[in-house]
Amino acid sequence: MGAPTVYGAVLDASTRCIHFHSERDIVAIKFACCRRYYPCFQCHDEAVRHERTPHATRRWPQAEWSELAILCGACHRQLSISEYRRVDRCSHCNAEFNSGCRLHAHLYFDEPQ
Ligand SMILES: [Zn+2]
Ligand SMILES: [Zn+2]
Ligand SMILES: [Zn+2]
Repeated sequence: MGAPTVYGAVLDASTRCIHFHSERDIVAIKFACCRRYYPCFQCHDEAVRHERTPHATRRWPQAEWSELAILCGACHRQLSISEYRRVDRCSHCNAEFNSGCRLHAHLYFDEPQ
């Protein structure tokens, strides 16, 4: 089973993109709306805008957080959303994730009130 395709303005094999490309920006996220992996929400929004029929971004409801929707750019294995929210490094290869991504979590995940 190969690693899933990552769409958007990807810069390198670790899924860094033109928007977020620090040492630790190695995570791609699958979007609930189109089930495609993008490095960040800006990549998703820009790609969608250029499609013939643009679609609205849908965030993951908590009921679906068991979905494998996080791709580690270091080892290209997937984590579930609930797992990703518990860890600060990849549970497969131990690569460190950017803790700053948590500031954007509400753009991807429907957080409980
Ligand atoms: Zn989408
Ligand atoms: Zn991006
Ligand atoms: Zn990994």
